[in-house]
Amino acid sequence: MDKLTDMQTTEAPLNFLVDSEGYYGEFGGAYIPEILHQCVENLRQNYLKVIQSEEFKQEFNQLLRDYVGRPSPLYLARRLSARYGCKIYLKREDLNHTGAHKINNSIGQVLLARRMGKRRIIAETGAGQHGVATATVCALMDMECVVYMGKTDVERQHINVEKMKMLGATVVPVTSGNMTLKDATNEAIRDWCCHPQDTYYVIGSTVGPHPYPDMVARLQSVISEEIKRQLLEQEGRDCPDYLMACVGGGSNAAGTIYHYINDPRVQIVLAEAGGKGIDSGMTAATIALGKLGIIHGAKTYVIQNEDGQIEEPYSISAGLDYPGIGPMHANLAKQKRAIILPVNDDEALRAAYELTRLEGIIPALESAHVLGALPKMHFKPTDVVVLTVSGRGDKDMETYLKAK
Ligand SMILES: *Cc1c(COP(=O)(O)O)cnc(C)c1O
Repeated sequence: MDKLTDMQTTEAPLNFLVDSEGYYGEFGGAYIPEILHQCVENLRQNYLKVIQSEEFKQEFNQLLRDYVGRPSPLYLARRLSARYGCKIYLKREDLNHTGAHKINNSIGQVLLARRMGKRRIIAETGAGQHGVATATVCALMDMECVVYMGKTDVERQHINVEKMKMLGATVVPVTSGNMTLKDATNEAIRDWCCHPQDTYYVIGSTVGPHPYPDMVARLQSVISEEIKRQLLEQEGRDCPDYLMACVGGGSNAAGTIYHYINDPRVQIVLAEAGGKGIDSGMTAATIALGKLGIIHGAKTYVIQNEDGQIEEPYSISAGLDYPGIGPMHANLAKQKRAIILPVNDDEALRAAYELTRLEGIIPALESAHVLGALPKMHFKPTDVVVLTVSGRGDKDMETYLKAK
């Protein structure tokens, strides 16, 4: 501890947030086709001005309160704490409207789109969670909404497709490539290139070209803002010893750590999807296996073969099934600011059943991965741990039943 404090006073202060060029260390940037330059530049010049304005903040915060149901509770999980020999608080993003943290980001970006004079919203979605959140906000705000989704995912995620349609969105099944998230993203980018004037592209995680990772992190940072306040109220101190979250692209993790990222008192622990094991060839453990590359407009770690071709990832959890990772998180791993633990399918399933039986909370499969990291930790009885439950398990019931 002393060493870290020393470092802070004698050298430049820690900075794990984005720099003025759109980088986190060597990660990030905006590697985009010429035709998108104008769109991304326009966003870069406007996003801070808009989201930091009083008028935006007021509308955003009111919707987070009255529509999403924030603040989400910080719940002291007594039986789970006893199991792991420390004090574990759960940040309950599963209680948000639409069942996860994604709605925070969708509301923020659609409000921004409206202020930039856009009428048409496009989004990509894998499992459909981001698609449903964005379609929900578009219904609320009377915006046209087109969601690109790989044909394989359309078939796998039938209920989410029907929800999006019921909400008034157009779902476009994508038949190129493997017909999954990566292909849906390419198709959304193609659409954006064709309609730069009236269309806004809502990205669902801390990925994509700058300024998306920073913008999404800021919109999700309400999570750590609330943790600070709630912890001070309940624990008499505003910082935990550990913050824990799962990482697909990284948005719920970024929101959880945002206001603590440069505070060396807090240890950050992130769980990525090990799939059937990091050596099995069926995995989405990007930090364990990825090499530096470019994916969706950002320089970051990517799971790729020797020719630099992006490999199809695998995880039992659709929300963690991404071959890249946000540039912020790649840098946290490289700088050893965060511990990144791969958690396999079977470990996540066991953890989901454990939380359900100990606390009466059925978590999303994604969230079950960070719960599956708990047995890999060594806590002291005095440790205060805040773990984010990013979503609820309703959408995963079939998988849970099959695994029983
Ligand atoms: C989409 C999703 C995730 C993964 O996305 P991040 O951007 O890494 O947060 C995690 N949990 C739930 C419930 C999700 O829907």
